[in-house]
Amino acid sequence: MSELDKKVFEEAPQVFTLEDYQGNQARWCPGCGDHGVLHSVQRICAEENLPPHKTVFVSGIGCSSRFPHYMNTYGFHGLHGRAMPVACGIKARRPDLHVFVASGDGDFFSIGAGHWLHGVRYNMDITLMIFDNGIYGLTKAQTSPTSPEGLKTKTHPRGAWLPPLEPIQATLGMTNVSFVAQTIDWKPQHLKATIHAAFKHKGLGIVRVLQRCTAYTADLHDEWRRNPERVLLMKHDEGIPVDPKIDRAFKNQTAHDPTDIAAARALAANNDVLPIGLFYRNPNAPSYCEFTQMGMEMTDEEKAEAFNKEIGRFAVL
Ligand code: SF4
Repeated sequence: MSELDKKVFEEAPQVFTLEDYQGNQARWCPGCGDHGVLHSVQRICAEENLPPHKTVFVSGIGCSSRFPHYMNTYGFHGLHGRAMPVACGIKARRPDLHVFVASGDGDFFSIGAGHWLHGVRYNMDITLMIFDNGIYGLTKAQTSPTSPEGLKTKTHPRGAWLPPLEPIQATLGMTNVSFVAQTIDWKPQHLKATIHAAFKHKGLGIVRVLQRCTAYTADLHDEWRRNPERVLLMKHDEGIPVDPKIDRAFKNQTAHDPTDIAAARALAANNDVLPIGLFYRNPNAPSYCEFTQMGMEMTDEEKAEAFNKEIGRFAVL
């Protein structure tokens, strides 16, 4: 592309349609919850009119990590558990890009757990979707950190031995957390509204999506799906906007102020119900973006001068 073409491409006002975000044909299993998340995200991109050349999807390894292939944007399908550092690096150098991360319970809560902790603390302006199906699906059914106790898997044929990790409780205990929400893939209105709210949040918007894996944990969420009265809809003016269909579907509701972290932790610890909506939001949490963007407006000459001055402090005269 010539420099002139590039300039026109960058500056011309453009309107993008849903088709502009549709990448390769998704190859997830029929009925897999990942399809619904993909469709929701493509609709959010279209509604926000995000330029595909200014949008990037980053992933690790796993079924959900195929996400970047199915978006017609920039993408980085990285190493197992390493989506967060890649995404943070991209955001640090290209703050103008809209950065999304797609990861799964095996990828994010196990080998990627160290990056989970520091990604939360860095609080960079990234939308993080964690697809939680309680199993390693891509490698055909090994126990993941969120597999329920007793689940028979390839690595625990007599049943998973330990109680599952509680990702929302753990995240709410981390330093500098700024947005934590939970949704379910079988209610698309709530799914889309939740990811959309995370996108609009300035900081790390974390969404745990309870996702159906039709191949290996098909009945994992049946308890919540068959008994919607056990799903607790968190509602608040500052929370996730509630579609009338969702309002009608979930009669078990609670007014939850998402600035109240103690109440958020109490809700996350209640295993008798499945809370969905926004647990916690702090728009004033410091972001590492403020540090990594320092000096980005400087010219190359100014940067060289500043660099030499800094190095000069250590010179032995
Ligand atoms: Fe989806 Fe499970 Fe199939 Fe993976 S194995 S594509 S998570 S249904």
